[in-house]
Amino acid sequence: MTAKAPITQDVHTIPRKLPEGKPNLVGMTQDQMRAALIEAGTPEKQAKMRMGQLWQWVYHWGVRDFDAMTNLSKDYRTMLAETFVIALPEVVTRQVSTDGTRKYLVRIAGGHEVEVVYIPEEDRGTLCISSQVGCTLTCTFCHTGTQKLVRNLTTSEIVGQIMVARDDLGEWPVPGDKKDETRLLSNIVLMGMGEPLYNFENVRDAMKIAMDPHGIQLSRRRITLSTSGVVPEIARTAEEIGCQLAISFHATTDEVRDVLVPINKRWNLEVLIEALRNYPRVSNSERITFEYVMLDGVNDSDADAHRLIKLIEGIPAKINLIPFNEWPGAPYKRSSNNRIRAFAEIIYQAGYASPVRKPRGEDIMAACGQLKSATERERKSKRQIAQEAGL
Ligand code: SAH
Ligand code: SF4
Repeated sequence: MTAKAPITQDVHTIPRKLPEGKPNLVGMTQDQMRAALIEAGTPEKQAKMRMGQLWQWVYHWGVRDFDAMTNLSKDYRTMLAETFVIALPEVVTRQVSTDGTRKYLVRIAGGHEVEVVYIPEEDRGTLCISSQVGCTLTCTFCHTGTQKLVRNLTTSEIVGQIMVARDDLGEWPVPGDKKDETRLLSNIVLMGMGEPLYNFENVRDAMKIAMDPHGIQLSRRRITLSTSGVVPEIARTAEEIGCQLAISFHATTDEVRDVLVPINKRWNLEVLIEALRNYPRVSNSERITFEYVMLDGVNDSDADAHRLIKLIEGIPAKINLIPFNEWPGAPYKRSSNNRIRAFAEIIYQAGYASPVRKPRGEDIMAACGQLKSATERERKSKRQIAQEAGL
């Protein structure tokens, strides 16, 4: 059988240069949208109702054209169009892997670019989104950690990643559609670039918009935020967002974790585990996901597996073993399949099910920790070629 080549497309979208000073409705919370409408002249008494209507058009129906908002008067629509924009990040390229994984490179204000990955599975479709351009933390196995932080993403840019994917999947609802339709985009993981808990407010507001029952309507059970262990923000995540939590655990001693996840020097394993033990849960079925990257000869021994089980004893947990995704210049190697299997077996014997994460979208460099790197490499070499040609 000949392997199918992945599809790469340049997507030409309408330029998204925002006219000076016009606020973008995408990213506004309910309170912000209401206040913006009042400022634009909507009588205070009507503002809540107008906000509700506009909210549905923007976040539920995915409408971008004010003229299509048929339950608003023509004059009101004209006022909206003169005052606001409904703008998403610009999709620069879209790649589709042979396994169906889609990777979008999106451009945000300032010319920065972030990657968004859509992973279809039998029972769900997961969108992996970014919270920052780069990351201030310096986990030694993560390529993002070698890049300088450029900036936090705005609420609009975080919600925009979800809306861009819904556009591409063609799954905005149409009137008359059944409510319980199976969604192509059913789950969100904050596992792209950046540390979401260092951009708490924007991530929180964006997830609230994603969960709103009058908007994108994703259940809080289908949103997972992954953190390297910003302990003071962990309880707040449950209280103010209410989503599921994943923790980049990756080591079973402080000595090793200090190197792999240097934030451990600030909040060590003991303090972290205490915070996880106290993580407020709405129901008993909710579990914390422990992510564990398999690094050859570093954290993958039988003793590590046993220590891991012991450390997390009593915490309702899922363990996710991630085979290390190598990147150019990475100081680690992926553990062998046999080692991963042996490690997984110990975890399994302790009562945790199917823990190895299958790498997806490898042919388009869409796997964990590879985001952005491939694109940058490609860009650099193109630039080099141009320089060499004296362009
Ligand atoms: N900053 C957050 C979320 C982004 S990283 C965090 O650290 O949790 C998402 C997951 O991918 C984390 O568990 C991270 O440790 C893991 N990861 C990073 N680089 C990786 C790589 N090269 N191979 C495999 N997993 C990696
Ligand atoms: Fe940042 Fe997460 Fe990468 Fe660590 S693993 S450098 S926290 S993105």
